[in-house]
Amino acid sequence: MNPSPYSNDQYTVGWISALSDEYKVAMAMLDEEHGRPQSTPLEDTNMYHLGKIGAHNVAMACLPGGQTGTGPAAVVAENMRRTFKGIRFALLVGIGGGVPGKGKDIRLGDVVVSYPNGTYTGVVQYDYGKLKGNGHIQRKDWFSPPPRKFLSAVTSLEAYHTRPKNPINRMLDFLDELGEDYTYPEPNETPDHLYKADHDHIPDAETCDSCNPEALISRKHRKYPSKPCVHLGIIASGSLVMKSGIERDKINQRYENSILCFEMEAAGMMNNFPCLVIRGISDYSDSHKNDEWRNRAIAVASAYAKELLSLIEPCDVDILPPIAARVLETGRKPFRLAPYAEGETLIFSKSFYETEKS
Ligand SMILES: [Zn+2]
Repeated sequence: MNPSPYSNDQYTVGWISALSDEYKVAMAMLDEEHGRPQSTPLEDTNMYHLGKIGAHNVAMACLPGGQTGTGPAAVVAENMRRTFKGIRFALLVGIGGGVPGKGKDIRLGDVVVSYPNGTYTGVVQYDYGKLKGNGHIQRKDWFSPPPRKFLSAVTSLEAYHTRPKNPINRMLDFLDELGEDYTYPEPNETPDHLYKADHDHIPDAETCDSCNPEALISRKHRKYPSKPCVHLGIIASGSLVMKSGIERDKINQRYENSILCFEMEAAGMMNNFPCLVIRGISDYSDSHKNDEWRNRAIAVASAYAKELLSLIEPCDVDILPPIAARVLETGRKPFRLAPYAEGETLIFSKSFYETEKS
């Protein structure tokens, strides 16, 4: 692989994958490939793949093989910030476990995008806080919201996808380009089954063939099942693999039933590396979890990320301060970022900040 014709400082957007299967689909989303960086500092343990999506120069990196969770994600992000001093923002793209619930029609192969809701800024770290005597957990997981312009782009994209007349959905074209390994699974062979939270999968059984069909939750048939729906809201992040319907629902209740999906990396990055988290739903965070929807879930998240980037103008990225310039010299680890200037991010109500201090 040749070195990129662009210097490291000319890359403004980061794209981080947790799994190698996610990374290869991320690479396939590039409109133009630039190769490897012109130089990488010795202490940077990341490998990068560089290219262009729309008008943006994008630096892509993946967590080292076999490593998942908030710790390794933080290391990858910190290396990227040091090596690519022009990066303003990153996308964390891959799979997540959906959280079905009242008013949330989340299906396998849908997309969840981190987006502020109430006092939550898009991502919550459910396994971090202060355990009080009464078993209550005092939250300490406050993350900066993404820049306002990116959130506006997310909202615009939703309108393009769902408007009643002439909807525009370029992610469907990007999905088609990936080929048959990433198509919507055959409903007869790989059905999208959601079981009641308390119905456990038969231990070690490869499929759900022996799971009780009476424990299936019946859901309305979708008119276009293979067309991914995009859900905007709260993503729960932590270092645990969530494989329990009961625990999933308990944590969801702690966050006022607002959680749309679980994942394992975002909380390691959010405070020192502003990012939007985009997750394709590959399971329901319960014991019936398997890999059959994984490719489709990776594909929908990646195609969405590409469409979103294509919608954002380079001037709207350039106007943001580079992440490297926002690092506050407190000498503390993890380091903190200076807040965005007014107009660059969402303005939260006074009560939000009061809650943050408590
Ligand atoms: Zn099962």
